[in-house]
Amino acid sequence: MSEVTRDGFDGFEAFIAAGQEFLITSHVDPDGDAVGSCLGLMLALRQLGKTGDVVLDSPLPATLAFLPAADTIRRPEAIKKRYGTAFVLDCSSLDRAGTVAERCLAPEAKLAVIDHHWGNDGFGDARLVNPESSASAELVYDLIESLKIPITPEIAECLYTGILSDTGGFRYANTSSGTLRVAAKLVERGARAPRVAEALYATKTAPSLRILGLALASLETRSGGRIGAMTITKDMFEKAGAQPEDADGIVQYAKALAGARVGLLVQEVAPNEIRASLRSDGTVDVNQVASLFGGGGHRNAAGLRVRGKLERVRDDLFQALERAMNGRPT
Ligand code: 5GP
Ligand code: MN
Repeated sequence: MSEVTRDGFDGFEAFIAAGQEFLITSHVDPDGDAVGSCLGLMLALRQLGKTGDVVLDSPLPATLAFLPAADTIRRPEAIKKRYGTAFVLDCSSLDRAGTVAERCLAPEAKLAVIDHHWGNDGFGDARLVNPESSASAELVYDLIESLKIPITPEIAECLYTGILSDTGGFRYANTSSGTLRVAAKLVERGARAPRVAEALYATKTAPSLRILGLALASLETRSGGRIGAMTITKDMFEKAGAQPEDADGIVQYAKALAGARVGLLVQEVAPNEIRASLRSDGTVDVNQVASLFGGGGHRNAAGLRVRGKLERVRDDLFQALERAMNGRPT
């Protein structure tokens, strides 16, 4: 069940006042919203004379290295202490942060959660959770405004990146007039919209273009064209010299197939370790389908990771999607 809470700002003021050094983390396989929200919040805490250390349990995707202070992000293994207070951003549950919690948090650590996923599981002590929000970065913006922290051009650019990334460049159904108003304010505060768009959508490394080519060539249609599916095997990653993060965003091409209600990208990220991304046109709840496999996300954009053989997982996903499209119980 999803939960809508927005009990936020007073609790957050007290949470921040009570700490000095904060861990800031987000989900594995971080996207622009995860990284932009963390860095924007870290820079805002700095304005208050506090320290925020951004720790992520996956490599930073090359496309996000342009973000202000991206070079300060660290991996959990580099952290030698345990934090008593942490912000967990863009995570529907704490395990989405990978090993960060077990490696970097004190057992009694207090958590502040900022998230916009349906089905956020209710963890954390201070919570700002609103699934109507386009991006966690939009919620970080609301928090910073409510705390009257001045928004520098660097903070603005981080948060704008989060919003641009989670709305697919202001194209998805989560792009509301409110989202565009926040984006406009961030541009007024110094976010460089063309620079961010260039970084997210027009700066591809050679391995990421090569893996895109291989993935495009793998296109299959299922359910009479209602599903567009692409597959990336371990061999394809090797052939392209690519890492799983180089395949971020490829699922949108599967979804772009005319007539497709669902786009699916299945990736063999390691032997018997499968990651899948699902995108819907709004007529199929892919969050619900992903949750059958232990994953989650949003109604129109969800993901999962499972162990198993590529072909088997893909067939199970096709079946589950078909059932969901036919409105039959899954
Ligand atoms: P992507 O397909 O781009 O990796 O993820 C799409 C959406 O699904 C994002 O909101 C992401 O946070 C969520 N998501 C991706 N993988 C998982 C997963 O394994 N578990 C959960 N709960 N959410 C996921
Ligand atoms: Mn997000």
